[in-house]
Amino acid sequence: MPNVAKLINWLNENFPLHYAESFDNVGLLVGDPTAPFDSIALTFDATPEAVQQAVALNTKVLISHHPVIFQGLKTITPFERNQKAIMSAIKYGINLIAMHTNLDRATGGVNDVLAQRLGLKNIMPLSENDGIPHLIRIGELPQGMPVDDFLQWVCVRLNSKTLRHNNPTSRAIKRVAVCGGSGSQFWREVHQANVDAFITADVKYHTFWDAQDSLFIIDAGHYETEVPVLQNLRNQLSETFNVPIHLIHSENPVKYFVYGNQGND
Ligand SMILES: [Zn+2]
Repeated sequence: MPNVAKLINWLNENFPLHYAESFDNVGLLVGDPTAPFDSIALTFDATPEAVQQAVALNTKVLISHHPVIFQGLKTITPFERNQKAIMSAIKYGINLIAMHTNLDRATGGVNDVLAQRLGLKNIMPLSENDGIPHLIRIGELPQGMPVDDFLQWVCVRLNSKTLRHNNPTSRAIKRVAVCGGSGSQFWREVHQANVDAFITADVKYHTFWDAQDSLFIIDAGHYETEVPVLQNLRNQLSETFNVPIHLIHSENPVKYFVYGNQGND
């Protein structure tokens, strides 16, 4: 039976842990490298509910995108969701692994999958530094799309209920930059790359405002832009590990109220 250390090695070969941002916390966060496993579960956030599902599935490994421990913990009590998840994981012997900004940056990770999901071709990182790809990916739609069609396309492809954006460009959309999750701090670099649109999330009012004359920025939702990676990660894991690989749904904590849409969900 494989053990957790073998899984971490495989993850590190494919999504190098040193690709993670300096503020991040990735790898095995709770558990024991020598622990054997005979199935793997993947989820977006290691919520208490996701850990409970792992318990119900009798799987000893839960890989999440967001780290269950991000900043220092002063307590481990059931009164905060992360801490409650950690308590259950320890109680039931579940190993919690996070693949966060290393997975964002790596080939075949969050941003490559996001670009593929949007139907982009010729996908390349914005730049590389010592062989390490930039988080941002740039690609091209097979043909230029009018802005309104493109916005609808993004909603359909990402399951986004609503989009926030600044002044739309007047030209057709062909060359597109993406950064799943919070990527709007890169907007000036993206602008230099001469794209027609930049899709990211968690965009602040002032960023929309600063960029409005130079870059068409679309906020398509943090969850919506990152969650597609899980299916790809599952496929890649199943090519290496001959064990069942479960996808555990973790809910988007962000809910949308779209005025005028009540009653027709
Ligand atoms: Zn995220």
